Amino acid sequence: MSDTNSLKVLVVEDHSFQMEHITNCLVQIGVEQVLTASDGVEGLENISREQNSSAPVDLIICDLQMPNMDGIAFIRHLSLSNYTGSLIILTAMDASLVSSVTQMIKEYKIKFIGSLHKPIDTKVLIEFIAEASEYTDTPLSPPLPEGVSEKDLIDALLNNGLQSYFQPRFKFSDKSFAGVEALARLVLPNGRIISPDNFLYLYEKLNKSAELELQIYSQAFQLIKVWMQMGHPTQISINVGPSILANTDFYDELQALVKRHGIPTDLITVEVTERTLIDNTAMAIEYLSRLRLNGFHLAIDDFGTGYSSFKQLEILPFNELKIDKSFMIGIEADEQKQAIVKSTVELAKRLNLNTVAEGVETTEAWNMAKAYGCDLCQGYLTGAAKSKDNIRPQ
Ligand SMILES: [Mg+2]
Repeated sequence: MSDTNSLKVLVVEDHSFQMEHITNCLVQIGVEQVLTASDGVEGLENISREQNSSAPVDLIICDLQMPNMDGIAFIRHLSLSNYTGSLIILTAMDASLVSSVTQMIKEYKIKFIGSLHKPIDTKVLIEFIAEASEYTDTPLSPPLPEGVSEKDLIDALLNNGLQSYFQPRFKFSDKSFAGVEALARLVLPNGRIISPDNFLYLYEKLNKSAELELQIYSQAFQLIKVWMQMGHPTQISINVGPSILANTDFYDELQALVKRHGIPTDLITVEVTERTLIDNTAMAIEYLSRLRLNGFHLAIDDFGTGYSSFKQLEILPFNELKIDKSFMIGIEADEQKQAIVKSTVELAKRLNLNTVAEGVETTEAWNMAKAYGCDLCQGYLTGAAKSKDNIRPQ
């Protein structure tokens, strides 16, 4: 898993601190060729120089607000060059500006990966880089977490090393318990617990995502069955990643699993991310519509991190919108985050969607989300994810 990655990335950013942060993230995930430019003019010089070399730039990560030539002008010039790589934009601006810039990039026919909101969520950056690398000949191989081998991942699948943890959700209105989300944990034989950001993409690369996710669902349904027998029917949320949704057996396997455990489908919420939808648009519409038809609830997860997906919200029969934690963490002192969360909740209400605020870690964040009319809270403030032995129905 340590083969070198030939992805060539150009970062165009005027703030040295941000530049350093992004460069470090890129190096950490195995990108070896990182070029930097502090404004659009320098960025274009880099592009034209590299275009004449044997290995042109594959991906540009570009800030929108910069001195001399800003990101918007830079993108226009880029469209006039022969640049054939992809683009990620970086911004602290509000969602409406991002969506108009997104539109502009599409009009220019530049391969657009998505927009990253500052402060940058490393998890999203990794997903974006993985996607950009799919357009090149040598896909990216992010490193394994320290002390973990590929064999550990396979062993975990065979020997119950993958465990479902459960994070509780509560209503803002009266603080009552409103269900749990099943989240995967990798538990190594030495007891070390690894969180999904560090291994989900590795299973994806090994083509084992479906096995992983079905094990997690199965454990989740077992717990819900026990709780039902105790007289506590509880809403359970499960995550469906891009590769499992693309698996043609997915729908049947999920239905069979639900049937085997005797869980009513309306107790199950299927969460998909914006990226999952983009990767599988036609299939996503088919599967998700059928699930909805069969009584499952549907949630759009990590909302706001990827593409502007208001259109998908209208096309797909969602019941719930989960506001990504990057908008909730630090919201107390960040007016832009406040505006984004407030307008997202308003939009969701107009579309008749329940809203869940993820990453609620402080009482101030709780109060803000509650004041905006958000329905459910999920975060460290109300409880981290726990193993099945440590969580009780309420
Ligand atoms: Mg989720």
